[in-house]
Amino acid sequence: MRDVIIVGAGPGGSATAKHLSEKGYSVALYEKRQEIGAPKRCGEGISLGRVERLGLNPPKNCIRQKIDGAKIYAPSGKAVEIDYGKDSGYILERKMFDKWLAEEAARKGAFVQAKTYIKDVVRERGRVSGVKGESCSEKFEEKSKILVAADGVESKISRVAGLNTTCNPLLIDSGVQFEMAGIEIEDPKKIHLYFGNKIAPRGYLWIFPKGKDVANVGIGIIGNCTIPAIDYLKKFVENKEELKKGSILEVNAGSIPVGGFLKKMTLDNFLIVGDAAYQVNPIHGGGIYEAQFAGRIAAEVIDEALQKKNTSDKQLNKYNIEWWKQRGNSLRKIEKLREVVENLSDEDFNYLADKLTGEDLVNFTRGNSLVTLAKLLLKRPHLIKLAKALF
Ligand SMILES: Cc1cc2nc3c(=O)[nH]c(=O)nc-3n(C[C@H](O)[C@H](O)[C@H](O)COP(=O)(O)OP(=O)(O)OC[C@H]3O[C@@H](n4cnc5c(N)ncnc54)[C@H](O)[C@@H]3O)c2cc1C
Repeated sequence: MRDVIIVGAGPGGSATAKHLSEKGYSVALYEKRQEIGAPKRCGEGISLGRVERLGLNPPKNCIRQKIDGAKIYAPSGKAVEIDYGKDSGYILERKMFDKWLAEEAARKGAFVQAKTYIKDVVRERGRVSGVKGESCSEKFEEKSKILVAADGVESKISRVAGLNTTCNPLLIDSGVQFEMAGIEIEDPKKIHLYFGNKIAPRGYLWIFPKGKDVANVGIGIIGNCTIPAIDYLKKFVENKEELKKGSILEVNAGSIPVGGFLKKMTLDNFLIVGDAAYQVNPIHGGGIYEAQFAGRIAAEVIDEALQKKNTSDKQLNKYNIEWWKQRGNSLRKIEKLREVVENLSDEDFNYLADKLTGEDLVNFTRGNSLVTLAKLLLKRPHLIKLAKALF
């Protein structure tokens, strides 16, 4: 019997596996795909501060481009620039990065197995007590004291385990991305974000450079949009001289949670980590950091539960409490910001682009200084109600 089985070797699953293995537990990490990290479903952006906060030192082959700021474009075309004057983020190569995270877990002693699909949970006296799956075409069953679902936004494991994780479909954005080559990037050290209801309803388009002439060019928009996200993306590419002559090396699509954080992420012997629990920053859709941070909290809570030989829901509830204290409350504030942003017209965006600085925008994405935004919105009578939500 394993101490812990983890389903899904994305950043959340691998981080949980690494932290638990280094504490000496017997951990199995199962991934359905034949190659961990591929295909990617990600713009691959992460800030340096987040990498440092996770205590990571990724090898060079995981980092495609160092970033020193951002250009954020209003519908009018006006750009608000954030320039840190030094490296402040990475565009990763997720195929290498995710594999490296799994390697780190394996190095600490976790048993990692790709091409292993977990179909169901095993139960004893009504409690989750392991998994049933198929590994390289062979059926198997394995028991564990604790099961962790880190199986991404489409998580099935939480549901078969008995947790209701259904969320409002309006809280799931639709993402599509082309990895493009042979394009021209005005400033390859900056990420470029484009806002506007006509080009990306309730979302944005991005160009995340992976070199001078290679980039992830993508879009995330409200999930129930009548026009598919890929049509908006194609139009964006066709309308940009610097992109339209480029080649498309990869097409990636996926869902992006933008809120709906779960109050309850635990059962007896069971908890959820990462996208499977919608642990994503709701304003920009970034979840690489959130999944790993949650994995670290989960590992601490599991460690205590295993030491106490008490893996009940009541004991694991510490994970709910700690995650909300350390991340949830701040992400909930950012969700409120997203609720405000999705109600802005293109004219409102243009107005804000004239008033706000790059520093303001960075603060907002972290849930800070929202009062600054609220005060600006109060000056627009039709936005007074929205502004009040930010105080
Ligand atoms: C288009 C797009 C762009 C994005 N851009 C960014 C970005 O620039 N920066 C950022 O921080 N975030 C970004 N994200 C979000 C980010 O990719 C996720 O938040 C992050 O990968 C979450 O990590 P995770 O470990 O929770 O889940 P995942 O990375 O989704 O990993 C879950 C794993 O579980 C496996 N799995 C699922 N079911 C089973 C099963 N039954 N058995 C075994 N294995 C299973 C899957 O194959 C997968 O490998 C983007 C997302 C999308 C869709």
